[in-house]
Amino acid sequence: MNDLYPELETYIFRFCGEFQTHHEVMAYKTVLYHNLSDTPAHLLKLMKETGQISDDPEVLAMMVDGRDALRDRIVRRVWEQHRQELSLNLCPVCGKIARTPKARQCQFCYHNWH
Ligand SMILES: [Zn+2]
Repeated sequence: MNDLYPELETYIFRFCGEFQTHHEVMAYKTVLYHNLSDTPAHLLKLMKETGQISDDPEVLAMMVDGRDALRDRIVRRVWEQHRQELSLNLCPVCGKIARTPKARQCQFCYHNWH
């Protein structure tokens, strides 16, 4: 199979979440809320207390270089470790990834397999 390309990375991140570790899921959620400058401090505190975001040092260390770098690392790890297990909706003509698991038209060559 081809190497990663942006559309495939987006698909893996959005639709292959079952291969993400708990730490990865928590780090991404936590970095998202930390990035929103208008999230009030009391809400962040509440989210930590209820386990929706994390203050685990290991999780915090994963987000030091920001959301995009974290997302790229997660996708690359999933791709390297689970490539054969991913259910990818690939175009029957050009072999590239569709936009969603249910899409029936190719975003690259526009082949339609409805
Ligand atoms: Zn195609």
